[in-house]
Amino acid sequence: MQRAIFCDFDGTITEAEVFVALMRHFAPEAAARVLPEIYAQRLTLRDGLPQVLGTIPSRCWPDLEAFVRDTVLRPGLAGLLAQAKKADTPFIVVTGGFTRMAEIVLAPYRQEIYAIHGLEADTTGACLRVFSPWQDDHELVAKAAVVAHYHPEDAVCIGDSITDLRVARQCPLVCARDRLAEYLRAEGRDFVHFDDFTEVSAALAQRGWWREPAHAR
Ligand SMILES: [Mg+2]
Repeated sequence: MQRAIFCDFDGTITEAEVFVALMRHFAPEAAARVLPEIYAQRLTLRDGLPQVLGTIPSRCWPDLEAFVRDTVLRPGLAGLLAQAKKADTPFIVVTGGFTRMAEIVLAPYRQEIYAIHGLEADTTGACLRVFSPWQDDHELVAKAAVVAHYHPEDAVCIGDSITDLRVARQCPLVCARDRLAEYLRAEGRDFVHFDDFTEVSAALAQRGWWREPAHAR
């Protein structure tokens, strides 16, 4: 793969943090106990998230799906996806939340998205059991492992939080907002700040990403 765009879902494609809201809604006690430990980095995402999600009864799964249906998307996504498709550049969504939720929210754009990778849920038991093909020692969805899987020659990653930091450190070009921007600024790393996807699209245009299809080069 020559070029690829790796984009976070929660707080990046969506305006709000849907996954955290979902945990607080369906597992309020476990979320109140465990999430602060994760934020304080006393507990890894890999160990902490199953402690929260594992308290949600499997029969609630349809309610979880309903919970995300009206999620508001950040402006400019359709334009960026159209540009990427025209330039034959894969747009890959990497979410630390459920793959299924991103699939639901992004259904109208699914034709323009190359792949969606995230957390899977097994609903055959009494409570949810979560897993991911991308887990490592620290994270259930190690985003750097997804990028390594595709090993593109050139890549941009787009994100907003600490779960995007490891992959941002390795990516040739980073578009960041919110806490990810603060972490990168503190580390003295270059990045493109964005509030909506038209800025991402413009930054890629400036770097020649839309100039010609990758297969023509
Ligand atoms: Mg995020």
